[in-house]
Amino acid sequence: QCAAVCPFGAITEVSDVDKVKAAIADPSKVVMIQTAPAVRVGLGEAFGMDPGTFVEGKMVAALKKLGADYVFDTDFGADLTIMEEAMELLHRLQSEEIPIPQFTSCCPAWVEFLETYYPDLMPHLSSTKSPISILSAVMKTWFVKQQNLDPKDVVIVDVAPCTAKKAEIRRPELNASAAYWNQEDLRDTDISITTRELAEWIKSEGIDFDQLEDDHFDKVFGESTGGGRIFGNSGGVMEAALRAAYYFFTGRKAPADFIPFEPVRGLEGVKKATVVFGHFVIHVAAISGLGNARKFLDELVAAGNFEDYSFIEVMACPGGCIGGGGQPKVKLPQVKKVQQARMDSLYKSDVEAEYKASWENPEIQDLYKQFLGEPLSETAEMMLHTYFTDRSDDLGEMKHVTPVTNPMSP
Ligand code: SF4
Repeated sequence: QCAAVCPFGAITEVSDVDKVKAAIADPSKVVMIQTAPAVRVGLGEAFGMDPGTFVEGKMVAALKKLGADYVFDTDFGADLTIMEEAMELLHRLQSEEIPIPQFTSCCPAWVEFLETYYPDLMPHLSSTKSPISILSAVMKTWFVKQQNLDPKDVVIVDVAPCTAKKAEIRRPELNASAAYWNQEDLRDTDISITTRELAEWIKSEGIDFDQLEDDHFDKVFGESTGGGRIFGNSGGVMEAALRAAYYFFTGRKAPADFIPFEPVRGLEGVKKATVVFGHFVIHVAAISGLGNARKFLDELVAAGNFEDYSFIEVMACPGGCIGGGGQPKVKLPQVKKVQQARMDSLYKSDVEAEYKASWENPEIQDLYKQFLGEPLSETAEMMLHTYFTDRSDDLGEMKHVTPVTNPMSP
């Protein structure tokens, strides 16, 4: 579980549910809640259901019963992240100036780990915001404007399998809405709660979760593709990005051997693959667990093979977000079995999805038409991209032991 690998103090069990309840109780507030991909395959366990039970409809129904004004799907945010991240990858492959490999940056524990221990490698992090942060930015700007709401009255909450998201939403740079509305004190995401906190909240209100009728996410951030849905699994971001990158590069849908892309699936800590699209033959890796990431990076750099890879996904929790520290707790001997069940459930949802690649999502296409233009446009850069900070000074005396420097540096 994440608690074993998150070294950044985000693992303390602090409930933020009271803050959400206070916002709901305040008639002047409009509360918008988004739920991350892995929550729907973990939440049911808190109500005695089998591991991996897919409870998306009941989860949405519960949130509406608890008083949310809107319930949106972070899977949509994952599709949006992929649009930008896949295009960014193509730019890196074609550019002399932006380094490869590109590292994913949707896991805040991994990002902070890199900022602290490997700051020289920060240029390799994708500048695209995580699905939660990207969706909150669009919600509190474009959507709030569409709805004629006052952004000060809007409270955005995420439900995540992740304790590190509580730290991510406080990062000062994740405030696109402040610049958009010219109101300094706005935050894109106001409150982050975990799957476990949501389960406790549902129980404390006496809601019979099992008996809830399925409900649906609200439009316009309610549609998702298979690519967005598998984000909760280690290797999912990679697979989703390849589906989109293939299309961006060739103009054709990704072929059958991309979906499913088996080499990056499963619970192993390090998965490697070689992918061919167009004249590019690229090497990719999907890593889960920060110990595995450290070992992989150190070995790669020591062997002088750093540039052999084009794209590397890293998720801090074993198995990815399905094994996040905010998910219902699992007894140690059951961990692998439970993680596999959650993982299988997300892949089943991918199989059932009408659209497989993020660019096929009709709501994503509308958002680009109406607001963003195209991936990496000026508006997209402003709303959907971020930057990183060297935190190596936090190591104090330990700083000198960090062994790796960027082989791309002069
Ligand atoms: Fe959070 Fe997922 Fe990263 Fe774990 S792998 S720290 S749950 S984002």
